Amino acid sequence: MDVTKLLVVKTDESLPFSSGTTAVFESGQSFSMFQCGPGASDQVLAEEAGNVQVRSFMLSIAAESGTGLGALVGSLVGGDDDELAGAEVWIVEAKLSVEAAGAQADGLPTLHAGLEKPISRDNSIQVPSAEAIPETLTVLYDCWRDGLAFVELRLKVASSASGNGTDVCFRWSKVCKTGFSDIAIQHDDEVAFPATDGVEPRLMDPEGVIEPVTKLSLTSSGIMRMRPPTVSSQQKFLTVELRGPYFGGADDSPSFEVDSNPVEFSVLYTCESDGLADIILTFEQAMRRALRIPFEDPAELDQEAFDELVKAEYRVGQFDAWADQRRKGKKGKGKGKRGKVADDGLYAEQGPEGLCLPREAGGTYHVDYIIPGAPIPQEFEDAPYKTWPSRDELLRMFRGSAKAHNLYDYTRFNVSVEKVRDLPGGGYSVQTVPMKEDEDEDGELVLAGAVVAWPGNLCDLRYIEFPGEDDFDGYIEYASFSKVDYDLCSRKEVILYGHGAFTIENVRTLLEHKAKKIYIMCRKRNLCGMKACSWLVGQSEVPIPGTVVMEMFQKMYDLVGFDAWSAFSVKTDAKRSFCHISQKTVFGVTDVYFLAGYYGLMEVVVDEIKRLTHHCVHTKKGRKIEAQVLVKAVGTVPSFQMDKMLGCKELVGVWCNGDCLRPVGCNGMFVEARNFGSFSSGPSFATMVTMFTWFIDYPSDFEMVRALLPKKKAGEQPCYVPSATHLLPTMTSMAMCPMLQATLNVSDAQKHIKQRLAHPASKFLEECKAEWQGYINQFKRDEMVDDRPDPEYPYTEKELKDWIDRSNYEWMKKAGMLG
Ligand SMILES: Cc1cc2nc3c(=O)[nH]c(=O)nc-3n(C[C@H](O)[C@H](O)[C@H](O)COP(=O)(O)OP(=O)(O)OC[C@H]3O[C@@H](n4cnc5c(N)ncnc54)[C@H](O)[C@@H]3O)c2cc1C
Repeated sequence: MDVTKLLVVKTDESLPFSSGTTAVFESGQSFSMFQCGPGASDQVLAEEAGNVQVRSFMLSIAAESGTGLGALVGSLVGGDDDELAGAEVWIVEAKLSVEAAGAQADGLPTLHAGLEKPISRDNSIQVPSAEAIPETLTVLYDCWRDGLAFVELRLKVASSASGNGTDVCFRWSKVCKTGFSDIAIQHDDEVAFPATDGVEPRLMDPEGVIEPVTKLSLTSSGIMRMRPPTVSSQQKFLTVELRGPYFGGADDSPSFEVDSNPVEFSVLYTCESDGLADIILTFEQAMRRALRIPFEDPAELDQEAFDELVKAEYRVGQFDAWADQRRKGKKGKGKGKRGKVADDGLYAEQGPEGLCLPREAGGTYHVDYIIPGAPIPQEFEDAPYKTWPSRDELLRMFRGSAKAHNLYDYTRFNVSVEKVRDLPGGGYSVQTVPMKEDEDEDGELVLAGAVVAWPGNLCDLRYIEFPGEDDFDGYIEYASFSKVDYDLCSRKEVILYGHGAFTIENVRTLLEHKAKKIYIMCRKRNLCGMKACSWLVGQSEVPIPGTVVMEMFQKMYDLVGFDAWSAFSVKTDAKRSFCHISQKTVFGVTDVYFLAGYYGLMEVVVDEIKRLTHHCVHTKKGRKIEAQVLVKAVGTVPSFQMDKMLGCKELVGVWCNGDCLRPVGCNGMFVEARNFGSFSSGPSFATMVTMFTWFIDYPSDFEMVRALLPKKKAGEQPCYVPSATHLLPTMTSMAMCPMLQATLNVSDAQKHIKQRLAHPASKFLEECKAEWQGYINQFKRDEMVDDRPDPEYPYTEKELKDWIDRSNYEWMKKAGMLG
């Protein structure tokens, strides 16, 4: 016989397997209730409540059999009382398994559970005697959704560490409840969380708290294990720290347990100046290291289960967003919230329908662009999707496509991701808070197996203030984030400050609103592209050499009397045998800018504002320009906060911290090239998406490319924003993975295939000419121009074909194909 002692397995009353002592084992055999294996599975002994996240079992040897231990839940009794003395009891193996309840047996996890300290032959435990401190076996629950699951704890009990042992099984059900509804936070005598009877806790009051230390205490109606909370503030004048009792869990990561006994912690503030700061206090449920987020293989699931899997989104819990003030944005002249955000989070950058045309042939780019063979859409929801779709057409395309792909079901709008964290055993937690100020919604903690981030670089306004703005007595506004009211610019002289890509778009919009004259004032005159050239690079299988691009540019630049080769951004040799363009803004694509230059409606002034007086701009070079409007088109800057949010310390290729499950996508901000494949972000995004998903599907392939990937840290730009010189080696290193490279080639090819299908040369040129003439007609109709002759549209179909031939010739020459 293996075991000759009485093993007592004890919990508190909240998991009553039975009252008193129950014999579970006799003469080498378990009683049926605790038997393992087939046929025993119906024996569910108890139900664990939803508010318990941690369950501890205390194991000891009973002083004598049949003792009336109040919380005794199960015992293992040896057969012969005489043999009790002197024998040992060992647990040589412990296994925990989880099974979904019938109604939820859909292949999706309801519960994960694990033993905090695994027990196996290598680290078996001897059960201590009754007088000693009991051995504790701790089960951690990790509920993934509300519901019910069955848990089985299987102990192999033996009389020695090397004994064969006998299996004893305890089976119970676990009610799963996600969220933090069992947690309460007390601040002094008041409840700080959750809100009671709709009354906002004082800590969330916009007036704020003024105490130097905020003392909080945390309780749970059940038992919960938490990670140490974190506290942060974005305001530089405030330092916030947290003090509290934490201990190392079994996996050495700090955590603490919350039950009905209050856990106290303090938020300490150190203010360097007066002001109102916003504090975010974050709580996170602790999970066992080994509870790795599994990847379900979609191929194994039927459609219903697959849909559910996508919907489940690995959500584990909710917490209240301790973020209030910071969502309100800055107020005051020229500052404020990004406007016109629709409920579904899609916003438009510019003015009303019909007045905003994207710079490239937009009809090519749409949600299904990346799918080889997907037709080019001509319309969405019975409305045409034109060559240069308007703002509302683009929104219709995005919304219609999102609906067609069921994306609305899987998308959470109007939430801000506050923090992405690596989970100790693999996987990630993504913490969100609601964006809307006026809604008292919960934030969420979402668990994910991979996090693909597209935070963009259009984050914050680049602020610039000039002396005398208050004396200007005109309209001053920033161009970005839909802030300009263009109606206020009608028949006015406008200073458009800055010469980036968005400046070009503002020229058009201002002219559509009948601006009298636009002075583009800039430190450097950046080059911008034109529609025909954008078309040419878009439809080409090979990048168009800079020399050919410059020939095209010059034809248009002649209209405004500017030698494009003389631009500061152009590098070449005496023979102009190459053209390398290097500028810190992408090409705006425009024809109207040149038309406006021809008519004198637009003038580029390379100078800077020194100061403003009443309706007058004084420049550093001593010029005085009359103007009633100043539009600051100085662009946006990427946010260093994104690095913090993503936890990105080093960008390896385009992967945060070299983790292939953490890619971050961001379009380039500069032009740095001597051959041009596209003036649009679309094609490179398509390639990036292909690359990202490849390594999520085949993570081990990442090791083929890792060593070649360039690395960068935050510097002038945040870590997550790659430069062109960083992106190039990133992309070329993908060739180390041949199957991926083949797939990327298919993605890349969509650019010229779809551009040609969507926009045949003759039709495209016709549209360009029609638009050109349309603006001439508008200028005349609105009496904005004098009687100088209409300029001819500068490009013909024959010229486009010649340039294509020229480009092919150059590449053939380089490849030595011309003998
Ligand atoms: C006026 C203008 C005209 C343009 N015209 C063209 C054009 O014609 N063709 C072209 O190819 N490109 C054009 N571009 C560039 C193009 O808009 C960008 O390349 C593209 O928007 C980048 O997409 P993105 O998703 O990476 O970033 P974004 O469009 O900036 O999107 C990032 C999104 O992430 C959200 N976000 C950021 N942080 C968080 C967080 N913590 N939690 C939750 N959400 C967050 C932001 O709110 C935003 O919605 C234009 C840009 C501008 C400004």
